[in-house]
Amino acid sequence: MHLESYKKVLVFCAHTDDEIIGPGGTLARLSETAEITVVTATAGETGYSRVQERDKIIQMRERENAAAAQILGYHRRETFGYPAQQVPTDRDALHDFIRIIRDVRPDVIFTHWNEDKHRDHRAVSLLSDEARWKAAEHILPLLGDFYYTPELYYYEVQDLFSHPTAVVDISGTLEKKLAAMRTQESQLPVMPRVLQFIEGVARARGYMAGTDAPRPSWKPSAFLPQRVP
Ligand SMILES: [Zn+2]
Repeated sequence: MHLESYKKVLVFCAHTDDEIIGPGGTLARLSETAEITVVTATAGETGYSRVQERDKIIQMRERENAAAAQILGYHRRETFGYPAQQVPTDRDALHDFIRIIRDVRPDVIFTHWNEDKHRDHRAVSLLSDEARWKAAEHILPLLGDFYYTPELYYYEVQDLFSHPTAVVDISGTLEKKLAAMRTQESQLPVMPRVLQFIEGVARARGYMAGTDAPRPSWKPSAFLPQRVP
């Protein structure tokens, strides 16, 4: 992975916070030298934990997504608006993915892992892979000029890879990643302790890559021995 060489980056995700929990720190790094387009497959309408949020969850997530985009430095955002927990893998969806690949013409695609436990993540992964191949074929000219994306990487969200093939040093952007996640107010009750999860994964991956991660912003005070007066 040659971060400095990327000028255009295309990120596919199923829900509006996947790209934060996944490659958010990497995107914050890349935004200084590349144009980042984030395509979200759904509007995330099932992602609420309180019934009273049901009718406003889409607007909430749109606002939260815009705030996160500002922090992580996206150049462009698109939403396909497929139903959550029901991302289709039919021809129309494949054509949507081909069209955006041919439009953006990225140096690299980041997408979900094809064995992820979430059905929407798997669907997005499958569509990304297949559309990358089909976008390069000399067919479907109405969907844009043929284009081959040289690189594609899967990112981990909550299903962690047992043997990652690439690890990016985000010690300089971990705070931005956490700040972007804090904008996802509707999702914090859905995923309690997700901020600690993000920090923990960054530390584990940083350990693998031999980087010196910043000190934790939270203190494990509950585990300190009691001082005897
Ligand atoms: Zn997701």
